[in-house]
Amino acid sequence: MDSDGSLIERLWRVRDTVSDAAREASRDPSGVTTIVVTKFHGVKLVRELFALGVRDFGESRHQEACPKITQLEDLDAVWHFIGQLQSNKARQVAAYSDVLHSFDRDALVDKLSDSGHSMRLREVFLQVNLSDDRERGGISPEKILTIAERVHDIKGLVLRGVMAVAPREVEPRAAFARVRALSEQLTELLPTASAISMGMSADYREAILEGATHLRIGAAITGKRPEAG
Ligand SMILES: *Cc1c(COP(=O)(O)O)cnc(C)c1O
Repeated sequence: MDSDGSLIERLWRVRDTVSDAAREASRDPSGVTTIVVTKFHGVKLVRELFALGVRDFGESRHQEACPKITQLEDLDAVWHFIGQLQSNKARQVAAYSDVLHSFDRDALVDKLSDSGHSMRLREVFLQVNLSDDRERGGISPEKILTIAERVHDIKGLVLRGVMAVAPREVEPRAAFARVRALSEQLTELLPTASAISMGMSADYREAILEGATHLRIGAAITGKRPEAG
């Protein structure tokens, strides 16, 4: 990963790589949304990115995201919540996020079903657990279709597709190919749930080659993250 240069240089470098990879996969680059992950960074960086044309931002921790997004209410941005979601925080996160990428438990269906008009949340991705480790976040692949139908039935929410993080122990491209296969099964059942959220700073090229529609990129654009506070 190359995180040298200024913010605008890093942003453009990632945009170039996205376009090149999309072309290599015979895909239209406009079919790939780059979400810039701003966790651990202050509101100043978000404003700089917005001024450079970024509209999609990702955050992963409620305690941090909630005050940050409140301070940035004046920006016409799309907020993606990508981190693990505690059930008792689900309604709060749904009040300030537009898109949830980390839907990982049946129990969240009830939490998101009756939060009424206070909900900003509109779109959901189901997070798939690609490792054998149940401690890692996500739904096991064999349960995805069942949970997908339940999420699809939640009023006011659109099920967009699946999300995954490549496990460390396997080659990212192989992991992403599994997600693509799972996505194909899902779209046989629900044709509109065709989006795929995968690819981070170290592996977004491979993700695009396997059909990613939403990349979640932090450090390659923002530079090194400040230490977790
Ligand atoms: C932090 C994070 C990212 C971005 O990671 P980088 O390696 O900085 O690109 C993407 N997805 C999730 C779920 C994350 O928590």
